[in-house]
Amino acid sequence: MANNKILILAGDCVGPEVMMQARRVLSWLNDTGAASFEIEDGLVGGASYDAYGNPLTDETVKLALEADAVLFGSIGGPQWDGVDYDLRPEKGLLRLRQGMGLFANLRPAIVFDALSGASALKTELVKSLNIMIVRELIGGIYFGEPRGIEDLGNRGQRGYNTQAYATEEIVRIGHVAYELARKRDKRVCSVDKANVMESGVVWREEITKLHDTNYTDIELSHMFVDNCSMQLVRAPKQFDVILTDNLFGDILSDLAAMLTGSLGMLPSASLGAVGDNGRQPALYEPVHGSAPDIAGQNKCNPLAQILSLSMMLRYSFEMEDQADLVENAVEAVLGKNIRTGDIAGEGINPVGTVEMGDAVLKEMEVLAG
Ligand code: NAD
Repeated sequence: MANNKILILAGDCVGPEVMMQARRVLSWLNDTGAASFEIEDGLVGGASYDAYGNPLTDETVKLALEADAVLFGSIGGPQWDGVDYDLRPEKGLLRLRQGMGLFANLRPAIVFDALSGASALKTELVKSLNIMIVRELIGGIYFGEPRGIEDLGNRGQRGYNTQAYATEEIVRIGHVAYELARKRDKRVCSVDKANVMESGVVWREEITKLHDTNYTDIELSHMFVDNCSMQLVRAPKQFDVILTDNLFGDILSDLAAMLTGSLGMLPSASLGAVGDNGRQPALYEPVHGSAPDIAGQNKCNPLAQILSLSMMLRYSFEMEDQADLVENAVEAVLGKNIRTGDIAGEGINPVGTVEMGDAVLKEMEVLAG
């Protein structure tokens, strides 16, 4: 089996703690011959700032582009609050996404049966929920020009941004959503605001055209973003893949994440375009941040990091069986009421980060027979 190269960027605060548990899963896969990974480590965020005076060095970007996938922890913490804005840890991640051309952000919102009571919504609305939000990540209003703040003299000031999407940007994210849907329930709901925004009109036209030319096996629907936010709370299980732009995706993916009720459980993936070398830049990371309030206390839930690893197995390496194994192990652990503090609920004594890692490995052993 050829070696697959992974760059691990554990980052700051709880990043290295949860990454340690993901590393144990990777080692298990290597040791049992289920996979063959070559692992390299790099610094990012505050850790990189402390070592090099920069939250992301060119060398790290190079390593990321040379790897088959990047497994990322989390960055930031109050110890870097006083650092110049452009050198803050968070800038390291933004620059890494840009440097790797990661235009597609995949955010699954999955409710494990054992945790369906943790949602703010009624259990029957979210039980077995499994939706995937595909968000365009490097275009739209967060990057559009012109942008700025204009001084209006004695009339105050005016802030402005530009929402713009061109065919090429829409089509490449459209392909990602349709291809994903092919591996799922074959349904894409494209979300825009075409009733009041020209960028939405173009978005809808291009997504429809792409569907009609390449993806007639997929059921396509369109929804305005205001309705979609309502539907996500009213009847979230109606969705399979939701495809949307950068701004709407930012908001809807957080909303969908909270349907699951547990920040410590949520993985994500960010993908770029397949290059001439046949390689698709990809970065996998938990949705949560560096949780400085619980760092170093063996309290952090490592499952979002471990599930980010299973997304990596599935999407970068097409290791469906190994990804299923990891996810089934997580499901089994939760089914046995083994929980970290964030998901423990009443009457359950929480376990620590390491013990949660132990439990996942143990279930992997059992399931692998
Ligand atoms: P956060 O996600 O780090 O924490 C929010 C709350 O959730 C905290 O109380 C934390 O203890 C808890 N929490 C988060 N993940 C958890 C887990 N796996 N298990 C148990 N509890 C968990 O968000 P924040 O407090 O707003 O930000 C803290 C730092 O993280 C900031 O410096 C922020 O910039 C950074 N941040 C980084 C990323 C990233 O690396 N991608 C994302 C968001 C925030």
